[in-house]
Formats: sequence, C-alpha cells, structure tokens
Amino acid sequence: MSQNNQVRQNLQHIQQRIETQLKKSGRTDDIAHLLAVSKKHPSSAIQAAYTAGQRDFGENYLQEALHKINVLKGNDIVWHFIGPIQSNKTKPIAEHFHWAHSVDRSKIAQRISDQRPSSLPPINLCIQVNIDDEPSKSGISSHDTIALAEYCTSLPRARLRGLMCIPSPEDNKHGQSFAKLHSLFNEVAEQIKPPYWDTLSMGMSADLELAIDHGATIVRIGTDIFGPRQ
Ligand SMILES: *Cc1c(COP(=O)(O)O)cnc(C)c1O
Repeated sequence: MSQNNQVRQNLQHIQQRIETQLKKSGRTDDIAHLLAVSKKHPSSAIQAAYTAGQRDFGENYLQEALHKINVLKGNDIVWHFIGPIQSNKTKPIAEHFHWAHSVDRSKIAQRISDQRPSSLPPINLCIQVNIDDEPSKSGISSHDTIALAEYCTSLPRARLRGLMCIPSPEDNKHGQSFAKLHSLFNEVAEQIKPPYWDTLSMGMSADLELAIDHGATIVRIGTDIFGPRQ
C-alpha cells in the first residue's frame, strides 16, 4: 500500500477508536481531538496525513520541527510542541508553534509569553505534570501545579488551556494516573478559574482508550498513525 493510503487508513481507524471509546465511556456529544505526533517521520508523512484531512501535528525535537514547518509552510497546519523545553528554545517555539504542551516551570512560561510575536494571537499552553513523581521525567509535581497555573494565567501573550501528562505504564495500568490528572484539572478550574481552561492532553497509541475513559480532550498519537520510529 502507498504511504498516503496507509496513513489515511490509519487515521480513519484511530478516529473510529476515539468515537467508539467516547460512546463507551458515556461521553456522548463530546469530542477528543486527534494530535498526530510526527516526530522522527519525514515531511512526506505529514503531507500524507494532511491530504487525508489531519490538521494538528505534534513535534518533540525543535530543529527537526523547524525544518518541517518550513518545508510545509503555506498549509494550514496547527503545530504543537510536545517535547521538553529548555530556556534557549523558547523563542523559536513562541515564533513558530500554536501550542506548547510541555511547560513545567514559570521561567519557561514567562519567556514564551514575552517572546510571542505581537503579530500572532496568544500561544496556547498546557502544563506538563509529572503525575507519577518519576525521578527522571520532565513535568512539574502535582503539588506545585496550582501555583504554576495561577502564574500562567497572568501572562499576557499566552492562553493557559490545561494539563498534559505522560504516565508511568505500571502506575497507570487501570488509569489511576489519568484519573489523578483529571482531578488536578478540576482543582485548578475551581481554585484559579483560568478563562480558557478546556484541555486534558493525555493518551498515546497504547493507552488511548484508557485516556478517553478518564476525560482526555486531546490524544497524542504517533505510532498507530505513522508506524514505528527509527
Ligand atoms: C512520542 C510521543 C507521543 C506519541 O507516542 P506513540 O506511542 O508513538 O503514539 C505522544 N506524546 C509525547 C509527549 C510523545 O513524546
């Protein structure tokens, strides 16, 4: 099968999984957006998904992403940065992306807001939470999330949209980590009331169904759309 047809078929299959699971979990009339994670796949793979109707793409590695954004400019793609963010990367992220899902400290959020060009609308941000307190994983601790959310809500060139996590597969066997992120999401809503608060970014190829059961509004899918990565 051609790459275009394979990607188109995979996207249709994922959309069916999403719809089936929304119904199963009682979320009738609700939607979960599909973010196609294209890291380590070439621009031609993104083009194939775009031709099949996909518009939201997620990238982890800045240089690779900037290359693809340049190759594909002129298309109405919504670019999401989902990889770890160091201070020296905030400017190109602020200039070239519509979303950043992986904000985990105030300095990063502040720099992105400061560096967001005035010609563009405010950037959409999610706070990445290290929901299972794994020592080697990026993300802020659950405990410090509310304070960071309050800080982000004050930034003039950013819209804080919600929370993101990458759980530990062991701790999340029955969706416990997703449930924790959802209740933290509700806590922020009650205590801070951020005006654009609507996003739970969770669920990957292996745990999409579990994430939808626990309220995911954006699922980030790579392998099941584009195949394995090198
Ligand atoms: C790579 C990646 C994904 C996609 O993972 P798959 O298992 O390939 O679906 C989702 N989210 C983040 C943050 C990633 O780094």
